[in-house]
Amino acid sequence: MKLPIAYYGHPILRKKAALIGTISHEIQHLVKDMIETMITSKGVGLAAPQVHHSLSLFIACLIEEDDEEEIEQSKIRVFINPKILDFSHEQWTQSEGCLSIPRIFRDVDRPISIKITALDLSGHAFTEEFQGYSARVILHEMDHLHGVLFIDRLPSKQRKALEIQLRAIKKKFHSSTISADMGRLVTFE
Ligand SMILES: [Zn+2]
Repeated sequence: MKLPIAYYGHPILRKKAALIGTISHEIQHLVKDMIETMITSKGVGLAAPQVHHSLSLFIACLIEEDDEEEIEQSKIRVFINPKILDFSHEQWTQSEGCLSIPRIFRDVDRPISIKITALDLSGHAFTEEFQGYSARVILHEMDHLHGVLFIDRLPSKQRKALEIQLRAIKKKFHSSTISADMGRLVTFE
């Protein structure tokens, strides 16, 4: 089942995600739905808070960007309770976007290589190094688990220049919630 995306302005995107104790059937089901959601939304990564679950879990399709490979189920990896162990001081810059912030793409600086440890869907711990585009996707998703968005990593001038667009996203996706709340207020008056 494709899950509804939490868009910019939703408070869950700013919360620190909780560690997962047991990889229950519910978690397995959530991962299955997240994979479907990521593929149909044409994303290369998706973190649980982006689908309204404040849990330390993300999925990433680890392809090399230049390959123009299709997003395939076999290339999708699951990271549960991930932790970055090490990262290179060397950085590189590339354009990023986010399913929670539609139609905004900006250059972001990120370390060129990382070492990460996490649990896979069967609960096995693994430690692996990733480079380039894969490292970038992983770091972007890791940020989501800490309530950080890629726009937070932009120089303040660039971030400020996005304010109007960001406000428009907030208005588009959250005005129905506001009016529903106002409706309730009116009823109680
Ligand atoms: Zn994102």
